[in-house]
Amino acid sequence: MMIEHEQLRLLPSVDELLHTVIGQQLGADFSRALTVEAFRTAIAQARIAIRAGAACPTYEALLHTARELLQRQQRPHLRPLINATGVIINTNLGRAPLSVDALEAVRQVGAGYTNLEYELEEGERGSRHSHVSGLLRKLTGAEAALVTNNNAAAVLLSLSTLALGREVVISRGQLVEIGGGFRVPDVMRQSGCQLVEVGTTNRTNIRDYEAALTEQTALLLSVHPSNFLITGFTESTSIGALAELAHKRNLLVMDDLGSGCLLESGRYGLAHEPMPQESLAAGADVVCFSGDKLLGGPQAGIIVGRSAVIERLAKHPLMRAVRIDKMTLAALEATLRHYERGQAETHIPVWRMISARAEELARRAEYWATQLKTHEMVVRTLGGESTIGGGSLPGEKLPTTLLALDADKMPMPLDELARRLRVRSLPIVTRISRDTLLLDPRTVLKEQDEEVVQGLLEVVVGSLEK
Ligand SMILES: *Cc1c(COP(=O)(O)O)cnc(C)c1O
Repeated sequence: MMIEHEQLRLLPSVDELLHTVIGQQLGADFSRALTVEAFRTAIAQARIAIRAGAACPTYEALLHTARELLQRQQRPHLRPLINATGVIINTNLGRAPLSVDALEAVRQVGAGYTNLEYELEEGERGSRHSHVSGLLRKLTGAEAALVTNNNAAAVLLSLSTLALGREVVISRGQLVEIGGGFRVPDVMRQSGCQLVEVGTTNRTNIRDYEAALTEQTALLLSVHPSNFLITGFTESTSIGALAELAHKRNLLVMDDLGSGCLLESGRYGLAHEPMPQESLAAGADVVCFSGDKLLGGPQAGIIVGRSAVIERLAKHPLMRAVRIDKMTLAALEATLRHYERGQAETHIPVWRMISARAEELARRAEYWATQLKTHEMVVRTLGGESTIGGGSLPGEKLPTTLLALDADKMPMPLDELARRLRVRSLPIVTRISRDTLLLDPRTVLKEQDEEVVQGLLEVVVGSLEK
């Protein structure tokens, strides 16, 4: 009791810490207010430790604790991580990583003023859509194009403009929930149009649509069931058939494709993902899709279609509420230019991951394993599967080689291991399958290989040394 009391009396005051050389420096780097707060916390922690029997820490130790508190507090809340899950497009992890060109475009455009809505030739007001509409027309064959801040906004804008107070016919097999609360029936209600469901969950044919048409019908809507599969006894109606029916009656066909796949996915050993250019060629009047799913760009909504329809959308008051910002536009233009130059597979990260060669993935997993084994870690590699994720190509798998850490060879339970990998300053997100922790090189950027090895050593070997 006596000793504890003496030790407590040895603790410096906040003011004494502020007057040290390091204290002054911390004040200058992080502000006086934040430094005072950190000193208070450090002193309070020391008081608790002393009461529990510890000796009074040195000034150096207190200053060190305060510095660490300040550094942790000032770390960005939104920050990069390493995705070792093997799920290429994951909404929780920010969907598509951007290409080098897209990042550079954001940097250039974000740093100063731009011609966002300014015609340089005439010196007059211009349209922000002009920066990408030409490219989108060229890549999809559309007459016109428009962009919004995401595809949910694109769907809301389109339905609000084209079907307010009128009926929209949709198959029961397409009344889907995309995730994150985006349910097609809810969006339709929010858009002020009336939902007319036709067919059954597994089968809808053109006669079902035809029988549902009334004076009140505005459009036929097709929604790509992008995150689930219905297999077995199924039938759905092609865009071509919908367009033929709709156009005979002076109605419109809208196709919500979701992913925005501009490359033929069949070439990569995957099922065929419907493409905007096909949908337009088949007669759809409006097609919308995301910028950050298989397109591999920034979060955006893209609407392509007939000029008369796109013009109506552009004039709707909601357009202002859902408009895209300049940094997104810069990244989107740069991403689309990769497609224009035929460089999507080599330059867009999502497509690089999809097209990664099996031998290359095996080589990287083996490299991780070899590095870890030289530090006495017991690991193995095994064949596995990566997935596309993010509401694209459900059920489709790409063969890969995984690094596996078996539960019985690790110094802690796997969920604790996974947690420690996640709370590093550069987090590593993995997946657990039964009694193994798995890391897939497909979604880890090549330049992150050393960091993966480093992180595993820190967490596994580091815990043994302590
Ligand atoms: C993902 C998806 C959306 C929503 O797109 P966001 O860009 O996430 O807003 C809408 N419809 C379909 C079919 C989708 O797959």
